[in-house]
Formats: sequence, structure tokens, C-alpha cells
Amino acid sequence: MTPPPNIFAIDPGCTETAWLEYEPAAARIVGFGKIPNPEMLRALGERQTGGAVMVIESVACYGMAVGWEVFETVFWSGQFWHAWYGAKDRLYRKDVKLSICKDSRANDTAIRRALMDRFGGDRSVKSQQCPTCKGTRLRGKAKTPCGCGDGWKIKPGPLVGITRDVWAALGVACAYADGARSRIKGVGAE
Ligand SMILES: [Zn+2]
Repeated sequence: MTPPPNIFAIDPGCTETAWLEYEPAAARIVGFGKIPNPEMLRALGERQTGGAVMVIESVACYGMAVGWEVFETVFWSGQFWHAWYGAKDRLYRKDVKLSICKDSRANDTAIRRALMDRFGGDRSVKSQQCPTCKGTRLRGKAKTPCGCGDGWKIKPGPLVGITRDVWAALGVACAYADGARSRIKGVGAE
């Protein structure tokens, strides 16, 4: 049986876009970041997809007036979609909430909590360097080995460094890994 493809999740923004690559077979986060939209577009076009599926969080209709940010985000989302020549899908935020929290009205805190639980609980977002050597692994003027090993008191958890929009991309990746698929007509595994 071939393992499921890696998921390249993106949460588009009006000027910058968050991305996160997830390997479902190993439940491992391969990488993540947040970069300006033109840079993201270039990266998607140049990237060898490596069999990965791209999943974009889609802007839904909220039933209220929206500003230029939303239109810009939609404008960029379409370009990202077009730039990726491999398998791709789109998920609404509420589908992500439903998949992660079993509640389509869950708030960001609840989603973050559920994602942390998935990656080891509180430890997933913790890291602390060795207080003696401050991560250098050497102590004192003589620079003798500290004895702590690798310079960490608490090794960085898998979610250390994940910021607001990258959390959204992580949610998209996990929802897709758990089987969430687009309900938008004409979209899906291509
Ligand atoms: Zn140390």
C-alpha cells in the first residue's frame, strides 16, 4: 500500500500567506512559514510537487460586508490554485473546525487546543534551553562540557514557532489528513 501523499496546506492572506507541509504517514510536520504572496506564487510554480496534494483554505461567504483584504485574498488564492499542477483541494474554515473539533462553530482557542493535543499536548509548544550553558553545551570560562547533552532542558515540541496564520494552515492539513474534502462543486481530487 502506498502511503498517503504529503499535504501542502496554505492559508492565504491579502499580502502574506502561511504554509505548512505535513506528512500524514509519519504524523510529522515537514516545514512551515509565512511569506509574501508574490514569493509564495513563485515557489508554488517552481516547486516539484513530489506527489503532494495542495489544500487551500477558502474564503467563504460570511453574510456581512467585506473589505479589500478579502478580495485581495481571493485574488491571490486563485493564482495559487492555478500555479500548482499536482493534486489539490479547497476547504472552508468551517469544514476544518468540524473536522478538528467536531463543531463547525469552534473558536480559534478550541482549535488550537485540539491541535496541541494531537501533537503531544502542552509539550508541543514548549522549549527551554539548558539554564546552565544556555544551549552552548559548554560551561564556564574553561568551556568544559556542560553535561546536559544537547543544550536543551526541554527539547522544542513539534509546534514551537507556529504563529497565528500557520496554525490555520496546520488545521487545514490535519483536517485533510483526517478525511475532510471539499464540498464545493467541481473541486476536488483532480
Ligand atoms: Zn547545558
